[in-house]
Amino acid sequence: MVCNHEMIEAPHEYGLTFTEWHVLGSQGEHVWEEKKKRLYDEVISKSPIFDRSLHNRIDEIMEERSRKYDEMIRGITKDNPYGVKCPYCGSTNVKRISAFAKFGIFALGKNSKQWHCQKCDSDF
Ligand SMILES: [Zn+2]
Repeated sequence: MVCNHEMIEAPHEYGLTFTEWHVLGSQGEHVWEEKKKRLYDEVISKSPIFDRSLHNRIDEIMEERSRKYDEMIRGITKDNPYGVKCPYCGSTNVKRISAFAKFGIFALGKNSKQWHCQKCDSDF
């Protein structure tokens, strides 16, 4: 929520279940947009605590938030482009193990490792 009001749970019928997402595939997003629009028209805009001016800025606010959230989650800095650190030596000189290496027949048993430290040569 962008305002300071308590989060009000959306009525269940406006949500999408995992099964629906799965069945809808690429259509899912479209259906979800429709549902959100309906939720907005039928519920949110009628809510007594709804703040229209805030709502008009919602994209802006959410974008800023998700950008900050993203940075926080990935811990990205200039020195650490992947946001990943070697758990053994603490180096940020790491590279992602390619999908081929990860799933290739030569890499059996390494399936859970995603990163390779170029400093101490360990996978994690
Ligand atoms: Zn290391």
